[in-house]
Amino acid sequence: MLAQIRVMRNKNRLTVVNHYAILEIEETVDRLLFGTGGTPHSAETQTTIDGIRCIAELGLGCMEMEFVQRVTLGEAGAKLVAETATKEGVKLSAHASYYINFNAHEPEKIAASQERLLQAARIASLCGAQSVVFHPAFYLGDPPETAYETVKKYLEEVMDKLKRENNRLIIRPELMGKPSQFGTLDEILRLSTELEGVAPCIDFAHWHARTGAFNSYAEFTAILSQVKDRLGRAALDDMHIHFSGIQYGAKGERKHLDLAEADLNYLELLKALRDYDIKGLVICESPNLEEDAMLLQETYLELVKTG
Ligand SMILES: [Zn+2]
Repeated sequence: MLAQIRVMRNKNRLTVVNHYAILEIEETVDRLLFGTGGTPHSAETQTTIDGIRCIAELGLGCMEMEFVQRVTLGEAGAKLVAETATKEGVKLSAHASYYINFNAHEPEKIAASQERLLQAARIASLCGAQSVVFHPAFYLGDPPETAYETVKKYLEEVMDKLKRENNRLIIRPELMGKPSQFGTLDEILRLSTELEGVAPCIDFAHWHARTGAFNSYAEFTAILSQVKDRLGRAALDDMHIHFSGIQYGAKGERKHLDLAEADLNYLELLKALRDYDIKGLVICESPNLEEDAMLLQETYLELVKTG
């Protein structure tokens, strides 16, 4: 017997009902959105809800909720955040705790790390966020290959748990800025190919700080080509990008800077994003947050207009 399939649309959500199941399909962002890492400074208060309202007022498109010290929302608060984000048309992501190390040598630290990522993912999902970014690990003197297997094993346990909870949020290990930190381009792309539900957070500032290179059009497009070759075009249609000015030295990242004070060639990066028709979120982590986010957005739109 032929299964009957019905498809219904409500704004950007597609509901597909077939013989076996009801599938809810959230369409991915169909263009490149710019926003801030955390509530903008110019928001009325520093709450997440006022942050979302401010993003909309400024004409930006997205915001990353910073659960970096702790998850600041409960379930009721998360639902209000979701309502506000839908009403204002702002896309959300979340940044999980800084206190995560999937390569910790003590089992209790691994368990605590897994719990922190799960907690962020559960609340972020209630907020209607599409992904959670996290800093996976430190090498702690281990060979990178050993660290990779350890990180993968414990991350896989988290992914299994989320799947059982029917939480389909995308978990994004971040490209990290210090050589002591797990999270090279190769490592995060490898995790993304080997684990279902995992995709990269490409932090161009971190990679520049870590390598002292990757600050030209050719190098930016080399990263994008690698993402495409290893994860497919679909990955370029759903990118999560972190960007800011950055100060760095022999040990990589020192601190984030405003773009005007830093050497990052953001014009060339924006040209690369335009030419590769990148879609998804660009989260600005400069200290001035919304000012650089708006600078990036305006420059990008100008580049798109002029071709
Ligand atoms: Zn980060």
